[in-house]
Amino acid sequence: MYPSMESESAQLFKRAQVVMPGGNTRSTLYYPPYPIYITEGRGSKAIDPDGNEYTDFINCFSASIHGHCHPKIIERVQQQLNKLISVAAPSDAEIELAEILVDRIPSFERVRFCSSGTEAVMHTIRAARAFTGKPRIAKVEGCYHGTYDAAEVSQNSNPGNWGEASAPASTSTSFGTPDGVKDDVVVLNMNDIQGSIAILENHKEHLAGVLLDVLPARMNFIPMKPEYIKAIQAWCVANGALLIFDEVFSLRGGYRGMQGEYGVTPDLTATGKLVGGGFPIGVFGGRTDVMDVFNVLADGGAKVTHGGTHNAHPVSIAAGIASMKLWDQAAVTHINGLGKRVRQGIDAALRDAGIPGTTYGYGSMIGWFYTEDELHTYRDIHTAQHQKGVQGKLFKHWLNNGILAAARGGLILSTVMTEAEIDHLIEQTSEAFNAIQTSKS
Ligand code: PMP
Repeated sequence: MYPSMESESAQLFKRAQVVMPGGNTRSTLYYPPYPIYITEGRGSKAIDPDGNEYTDFINCFSASIHGHCHPKIIERVQQQLNKLISVAAPSDAEIELAEILVDRIPSFERVRFCSSGTEAVMHTIRAARAFTGKPRIAKVEGCYHGTYDAAEVSQNSNPGNWGEASAPASTSTSFGTPDGVKDDVVVLNMNDIQGSIAILENHKEHLAGVLLDVLPARMNFIPMKPEYIKAIQAWCVANGALLIFDEVFSLRGGYRGMQGEYGVTPDLTATGKLVGGGFPIGVFGGRTDVMDVFNVLADGGAKVTHGGTHNAHPVSIAAGIASMKLWDQAAVTHINGLGKRVRQGIDAALRDAGIPGTTYGYGSMIGWFYTEDELHTYRDIHTAQHQKGVQGKLFKHWLNNGILAAARGGLILSTVMTEAEIDHLIEQTSEAFNAIQTSKS
């Protein structure tokens, strides 16, 4: 039963607080009164230290695309573990994974590897600055791009500091962010074409690029409209700024990522997560001429340094090759079909229970809000998020019925999931919504 202060998870969380601030080493994993710890994972299932089994609907926020301990990934990783773990030399395997990615992802003419999505985003920004010789980047208010200072700006602005929607203020997400960082980040209001273009015009002398997460996970996947993305791209092309996609999360949307689904090819893309098949990885790449800022063979050497002890770590690369081979068109079709089933099921459950709400998302990524108002911007969802009562109860009901999901709402599927598991999720969701409505009357 969750919560139970007698549970192993509760006890572990108490112990963790003695040695880690807040008992936590990944800020996004905390929910009160304590997070469920997971000690084992098999296929679509995750098991906690009390022996409770859950269907894992978080899948490491997109990274575990093939669920837990997939035999093909284990096999490849085990071969690698017996051969080589870490070395200060390049490997043939990193070329193989680079070839797979360049072949698949439209914007990748050249790629490089690092260890996390945060790093990948950071390096696209550094590349854009070096290539254009300009200091600023623009990003969309409310979007999460990892924890690099510049990428973090205005990720969680609030009505007290966000200013006018026509010119959103650059706000710091973490205390201590230098003003200079904020000054060099220009903030846009999502889906507001006219307003965003006007802001970009104001900064065009100084703008290196525009960073977009075209399916913002942190905003429960409310869509960035294709016409907005295309308008930003057209402005970038006309004004010599680079279009950068953050597909760290969203690459799983289609065989060629969301850029393939939308038919928009950015100049640079940052990704990671699923590419590592559950092992740490970051990937960034794009146009050859832009990526040449990292080219050690160029006249005068590379313009941007890119060291990294674990860049292209052999074990992550091995897992990545296995993961990408498993991520074929059939796997994409299967998982995206399951995603549709989830969205339809939750929409029906909301309707049947008489709870206002709408699901969002694309493919295997599912989010929702408890409102039927149209949501286009971070400011819209900020207001919608204040209906947290239903979500808290649903989350608890799920945990107590074998479903592990993101506490703030959000379901991320894996390729090893079945329709039966989706149907169980929907049944439990209906049960929870009906109980919530009954307790109100
Ligand atoms: N960008 C997006 C869109 C993400 O969802 C994340 C991680 N959730 C990151 C960047 C950062 O990636 P990482 O956690 O691997 O540093």
